[in-house]
Amino acid sequence: MEYKLPFEVYNKNLKKGKLLGLKCNDCGTVTCPPTMACSECAGTNHEIHELSGMGKIVTFSVSYVGAEGRQNEHPLTIVLVKLDEGPWIMGNLIDLDPQKVTMEIIGKRVKAGSKMFPGDKYSAAAARPLFSFI
Ligand SMILES: [Zn+2]
Repeated sequence: MEYKLPFEVYNKNLKKGKLLGLKCNDCGTVTCPPTMACSECAGTNHEIHELSGMGKIVTFSVSYVGAEGRQNEHPLTIVLVKLDEGPWIMGNLIDLDPQKVTMEIIGKRVKAGSKMFPGDKYSAAAARPLFSFI
């Protein structure tokens, strides 16, 4: 079976600021990052769908230890965002000093920007969106 949206294509678009997912033609569910089958009905009849990148923060964690060669980027705030189209996706929050982040950011509206966290050798160069408040 062929992947409709291979991870390499998803990652390449993410690095250009374009957030892609898959929309199920059977039930309408949007998945992101892309998966082989629909997360709702397990169907494989889906098409590539560009997401708005807008959503709200569900939870977060502040990371103080960076991967090899990236310690200077820490601390950073990693957020789990429920996108308006439905899927939950992880990214970094860039608007607020990680040392000042509190539980009050949960539920705040954010948008993925055009800059992306490029990934590192431990994450197979997987990019992550950088979110800012809207
Ligand atoms: Zn479905």
